[in-house]
Amino acid sequence: MIADKMRPLVENNSAIRAMFEEGKKMALLYGRENVYDFSLGNPNVPAPKAVNQAILDIIKEEETTFVHGYMSNAGYEDVRAAVAGSLNRRFGTHFHLENILMTVGAASGMNVILKTILDPGDEVVVFAPYFMEYGSYVRNYDGVLVVVPPDTKTFYPDLEEFERRITKKTKAVIINTPNNPTGVIYSSGTLEKIAGIMEKKEKEYGKSIVLISDEPYRELAYDGAEVPYVTPFYHNTFVCYSYSKSLSLPGERIGYLVIPDEVDDSQKVIAAATISNRVLGCVNAPSLMQRVIMRCLEEQVNLEAYNRNRELLYNSLKEYGFECIKPEGAFYLFVKAPVDDKEFCGYCKEHRVLLVPGSSFACPGYVRIAYCVSYDQIVRSLPAFKKIAEAYGLMERKEGAE
Ligand code: PLP
Repeated sequence: MIADKMRPLVENNSAIRAMFEEGKKMALLYGRENVYDFSLGNPNVPAPKAVNQAILDIIKEEETTFVHGYMSNAGYEDVRAAVAGSLNRRFGTHFHLENILMTVGAASGMNVILKTILDPGDEVVVFAPYFMEYGSYVRNYDGVLVVVPPDTKTFYPDLEEFERRITKKTKAVIINTPNNPTGVIYSSGTLEKIAGIMEKKEKEYGKSIVLISDEPYRELAYDGAEVPYVTPFYHNTFVCYSYSKSLSLPGERIGYLVIPDEVDDSQKVIAAATISNRVLGCVNAPSLMQRVIMRCLEEQVNLEAYNRNRELLYNSLKEYGFECIKPEGAFYLFVKAPVDDKEFCGYCKEHRVLLVPGSSFACPGYVRIAYCVSYDQIVRSLPAFKKIAEAYGLMERKEGAE
């Protein structure tokens, strides 16, 4: 019954989701407090109180048919204008409401823009490690994913390898900063270099090559780290933003796509993207959530809670002998596995510690730990991490290497 194109998706169903389901089963068997589930990027920090208050106020104050009705496929005009204004104030951009298309989260924003620009066979370049869903999104429109191998020393993009992979078939490049799974934030210097390479290749091949900046973690940056806004670096940039992590609203499915005036054929792209949003079946982003966003543009989740988790987990794992870079943003640690990453995840599972293998991000040899969990879970899990480190002699290995 199912389509040939669906079969590989079913067979390779997301390891992250599989681990999450496993966690639920284990919690029933051993009790929730005895399972240390670090598999899913599901924020545990609650949405700001203002979000719930906004829902109540909207229901009281705004007309029901307006709040629950259809609107323009791109979203409510006042919401889009408010989002544009907020971006302009924060980043010195010059967006207006037509540049903003409200979407069903970043996942939908990515699908909208890829549907809008991809012809079959067009290549889309990504940097490993990358969020695995990109492969599915690109294949939805018969595009071909081209992977730049990771630089595991820094987890910054390997720009020589990047340049080598841009061909006359390249239509788009996806970046994700702050990054899932590494927590790396691309500096202005890196963005300038990526832009420089893309401009050179656009000239060489006489075509538009677009940069898609996937930004669900923009607001999650620690120690005052700056997350440069990407559109000023490169003219053909699209931004896929989401409130899933920045306001802890992943189930509400709300975000937006930025299509700046500077992109080639911007008016046509805006019109086409609005149609993509409709024909993909989203029709429009959830109406109530759009109205909530407009009232909560200045709100933030409690970043300090993630920071506390980051410090405790990073410092403890380093103390036990694990190798990893300190994440600057997002809420993941990407840790070197002492053996094959899948085998290591299997072993950790025996200690009721659920992690995701780096192979799921095209970066074998590493594992991802999502620390968007309670501080208490991290405290309780530390003896298990210590035992795991001891079982592999990580401390001795580290001392031997020094
Ligand atoms: N992009 C990245 C890198 C993600 O990690 C996620 C979710 O975890 C998404 C996109 C999808 O986000 P959304 O919930 O906004 O669709």
